[in-house]
Amino acid sequence: MSSYLSKRYQALEAYTPGEQPRDMRYVKLNTNESPYPPSPGVLEAVTAEAGRLQLYSDPVCAELRDALAARYGVKRENVFVSNGSDDILNFAFMAFAGDSVPACFPDISYGFYRVYADLHGIDSRQIPLKPDFSVAAGDYMNLDGFIAIANPNAPTGMALSRDEIEGIVKANPGHVVLIDEAYVDFGAESCVPLTSKYDNLLVVQTFSKSRSMAGARLGFAIASEGLIADLEKIKYSTNPYSVNRMTLAAGIAALAADDYNMENCRRVMKTREATAARLRDMGFEVLPSLSNFLFARCPGQSGEALYLALKRRGVLVRHFSDARIADFLRISIGTPEQMDVLFEKLSEILEG
Ligand code: PMP
Repeated sequence: MSSYLSKRYQALEAYTPGEQPRDMRYVKLNTNESPYPPSPGVLEAVTAEAGRLQLYSDPVCAELRDALAARYGVKRENVFVSNGSDDILNFAFMAFAGDSVPACFPDISYGFYRVYADLHGIDSRQIPLKPDFSVAAGDYMNLDGFIAIANPNAPTGMALSRDEIEGIVKANPGHVVLIDEAYVDFGAESCVPLTSKYDNLLVVQTFSKSRSMAGARLGFAIASEGLIADLEKIKYSTNPYSVNRMTLAAGIAALAADDYNMENCRRVMKTREATAARLRDMGFEVLPSLSNFLFARCPGQSGEALYLALKRRGVLVRHFSDARIADFLRISIGTPEQMDVLFEKLSEILEG
């Protein structure tokens, strides 16, 4: 850190992204990417658009927002897009928390919530998960703060029902409730249908997981016109061209291939259930997941040691050092063949 860094950022602890190693080819089950390639139309659309890169992208993102509006049964004015859902989460923390409004979120959740709060000098209120690692919906009533909940939650994979979230949205009418649905297409109930009923509900989703486009960086939000206009104001105050031409084209092509993408989600869900059963057979405790990953621990085994032993054998999973979850591994769901490699290496380690 240089002595030039502004004082306000000197104590900031940045987010640590999952490893993207280049040293060897791993079976990569550590950052919840899709094991399947994007739909063939995406490649064609990106290739065609590459020839027009001398021109700026459309800051309104009209065509993509219209396609999303049609897919989700809302209007263009209810849709916001930007450079990955991380970008949108950042804008939302800037727009809807701060001054005297704290940011409230589960103590075990997506690590970026704490970072965004710290980045913008927002007070964080971390609300403990229940002992079974589920989000304690009852603890989110009348909080007098901005609320961010990942549903399904990460890294647990566990989800609240739409009714439980509606209760939270209703009980906090003076503040924005952000539901981060990065993993919703793998079996949880989406809160998008509630956005027409509650003007304080902001639903954020991504093309990174269920549409196989993590590398394209494309996220979207659905909410009342007022909240979308607020997000646009922040985006136009930072980078109006935050979605590049190739990604806009890729997003439109991906929505045209919705059946392909939703079929891949069903494949991942099927592999998830088979993987959970095999892990339980091996003695693991596996949290009930509605996402494209599993959170599991093996009694008597250190999570870190298991993570390192797998890594040495070419299988990359995610380990978090927070005390309450240090025994767990977060395992992204890959192809059935990738999961076979995981089990082969796990047996080797546990039997050795
Ligand atoms: N929310 C959650 C809960 C996530 O796990 C992730 C992925 N790391 C994101 C948001 C960000 O996704 P992206 O920026 O790729 O859209």
